[in-house]
Amino acid sequence: MDGGRIHRFHVARDVEEALSLLSAYGGKGALLAGGVDLLRGPLARVEGLIDITRMGLSSVAEARGGVTVGATSTLTQILESPAARRYVRGILVEVMRAVAVPPLRNMATLGGALVSAHPWADLPTALVALGAEARWRGEKEGKAPVEDLYRGEFRKTFRTAVLIEVSLPPWDGAFAYEKVGRTRYDIALVNACCGLGIEDGTIRWARVAVGARPDRGERLPEIEAALVGREPGEKLWTEIQELVEARVEVGDDRRAGRAWRRKTAGVLVRRALIRAARGAAA
Ligand SMILES: Cc1cc2nc3c(=O)[nH]c(=O)nc-3n(C[C@H](O)[C@H](O)[C@H](O)COP(=O)(O)OP(=O)(O)OC[C@H]3O[C@@H](n4cnc5c(N)ncnc54)[C@H](O)[C@@H]3O)c2cc1C
Repeated sequence: MDGGRIHRFHVARDVEEALSLLSAYGGKGALLAGGVDLLRGPLARVEGLIDITRMGLSSVAEARGGVTVGATSTLTQILESPAARRYVRGILVEVMRAVAVPPLRNMATLGGALVSAHPWADLPTALVALGAEARWRGEKEGKAPVEDLYRGEFRKTFRTAVLIEVSLPPWDGAFAYEKVGRTRYDIALVNACCGLGIEDGTIRWARVAVGARPDRGERLPEIEAALVGREPGEKLWTEIQELVEARVEVGDDRRAGRAWRRKTAGVLVRRALIRAARGAAA
């Protein structure tokens, strides 16, 4: 840890205080949530750490049929919250359980995961698939779908803003999350989060996101369109698996090769769709 220059640690009482401290440090302050990422990365430019975990942003609550999660809620808090457990047949619980190990989940926050946005991480893929919306406060208030944030300069935004909460909309159907890593606890080599709404035996809506490609999770609109209006079943799953293999944008990195990722993405989407279809039909 390169923390040689840190000479002040603040505990912000509210968002206003966190923002005014950030501004006072003029680029040399950093918001600290769980610290899982921040404290293992280079902190050379940071002179002041601003703890934001005691500002009352750690609640998980049902809202407008969906669920709203405060930015400093830890992944364990989400996992254990009744509101998150009820949300779309427990998809949040499934995703949180896929993240590393309990000690890490006890510290890591949803806000930290959203802002760190590691391309291999589980949460960005799930948040994009679930249509999550982020709300933040900087000089002005802002809100945007996480998917749009990730297409823009979100890192710049959060240099001078505090993420307040993440809202997840209601879905009449089911989602499933799939991940392959070198071990059960390792980060993903590929991951996928898929959702389906089924009415009268026909798929009415579909959400398909693939992450750790090695780029960050993104939806595959062409695959979603190919699912809508179709009858769920083996024939469709095979067709979709082949389509994912043909169309998903994947690359090489030191962990896995492009060809392997392409095949695996097809398999993971197929598995997630089968489980989502089962959940949606139940
Ligand atoms: C060993 C290890 C294994 C991991 N395994 C997985 C895994 O399997 N799956 C997975 O998905 N992820 C994994 N992660 C990533 C982890 O989930 C995220 O790094 C974590 O959620 C970060 O949260 P945090 O609260 O600790 O963030 P911090 O380290 O406190 O902050 C991270 C960044 O976000 C900023 N920030 C935090 N909160 C806010 C806010 N409210 N507003 C504005 N900016 C903010 C900070 O300033 C900092 O720049 C792993 C990380 C480690 C270190």
